[in-house]
Amino acid sequence: MSQNPVIVGAGPVGLAAALFLAKRGITSRIIEKRLERSHESRALAVNPRTLDLLQHTGVSERMIELGRKLQGVSFYRHSERIGTVSLNGLHPRYPFLLALSQSTTERLLEDALTAAGGRVERGVEMTLCQPNSHGVDIELSIKDRAEQTSCPWLLAADGAHSTARKCLDIGFPGSAFDNDWHLADLPLETSLDAQHGHGFFLAEGGLSLLLPVVNGDEKPGSPQIWRVFSNHPDPLQHLVNARPAGEPVWSSKFRISHRLVDRFSQGGVYLAGDAAHIHSPIGARGMNLGIEDAWVFAELAAKGGLDRYHELRRPVDAAVVRRIERLTRFVSSESAAVRFVRQWVMPVALGIPAVTHRMRRIATGLDHPIPTP
Ligand SMILES: Cc1cc2nc3c(=O)[nH]c(=O)nc-3n(C[C@H](O)[C@H](O)[C@H](O)COP(=O)(O)OP(=O)(O)OC[C@H]3O[C@@H](n4cnc5c(N)ncnc54)[C@H](O)[C@@H]3O)c2cc1C
Repeated sequence: MSQNPVIVGAGPVGLAAALFLAKRGITSRIIEKRLERSHESRALAVNPRTLDLLQHTGVSERMIELGRKLQGVSFYRHSERIGTVSLNGLHPRYPFLLALSQSTTERLLEDALTAAGGRVERGVEMTLCQPNSHGVDIELSIKDRAEQTSCPWLLAADGAHSTARKCLDIGFPGSAFDNDWHLADLPLETSLDAQHGHGFFLAEGGLSLLLPVVNGDEKPGSPQIWRVFSNHPDPLQHLVNARPAGEPVWSSKFRISHRLVDRFSQGGVYLAGDAAHIHSPIGARGMNLGIEDAWVFAELAAKGGLDRYHELRRPVDAAVVRRIERLTRFVSSESAAVRFVRQWVMPVALGIPAVTHRMRRIATGLDHPIPTP
């Protein structure tokens, strides 16, 4: 049996877990089936909770050097601004959402892992895992050869289609929206403030969210790239206060699902990140919540308390998935009652401190205390 525990997947969650463990003196073997790092922007916002958790690793400081501090999110009924949820004063050190694309976040996490003595093994796919009485048996596919090995425990950070979850037949119940959502990163001609996110409730129905995309390596004078994320079938033709100034650099179309695993662990196999929970990008929580899983996991591993991982993590992640699902239904429902509330009650509600405080806490990941392992 290999001495080192294994982490499957070098997305943000696997990388963060390997880094947190390394900082606690635990060396892990981290494997990744892709040969190269992903260049997709995907998660665009790093929240204050994540910056808190990563602070001791030095990664938060690097992120802040490269990212942009978003001051809040403005909402619009058609083209009229109905209110802004400001993040001022919410967090003593990080009173903002940091705009930084996922590919840059992954690069910074991997750099820090390398500096801490770790190394991602690329081109290594886990094809099978099975807990045994003293650890976990695994099968790997490395180029054109297979390897059988075992390890004391395994963290599956292998994404929404997790092989580990399927091998162990762990349930992943939930529901899916039945319409497509569209995403495009492209340059826009607009006077919108690029220090804020913007949410438009469109006149013809539907929602469009606009966020600046920041990679941290932009050349001075290069056009601002924006993320347009919408449930409108043709969002780029229905932009408000903006129009395309070039072709998308990345686009995607997908169905939103809300799902949570029945169990976060089985034998010596533990699940984290998208392998354990998926939900809509509204609220910018997916990657951030997974990094929180990684931190709790590493703390427990360092204290010999991994048997508490499921009981500590599942209630927290279940509550967040429920909250994000409710929020996504509210902002995207086309029922007359919900449209009425959005158009006429929401502008009033955005002036009520208790309401905006709750929205601010959801958007920043500060809607629950982090469980102390
Ligand atoms: C189009 C899109 C837009 C998104 N936008 C946002 C957003 O705005 N905000 C937000 O917070 N989140 C967003 N997300 C979600 C966010 O990207 C995920 O929550 C985040 O990537 C989860 O990280 P992870 O490490 O758990 O999984 P992943 O990032 O999926 O990483 C899993 C890794 O495991 C590897 N792997 C899988 N199986 C194996 C195997 N058997 N063996 C070895 N390696 C394996 C994969 O190659 C991958 O590198 C978006 C996702 C998508 C698809």
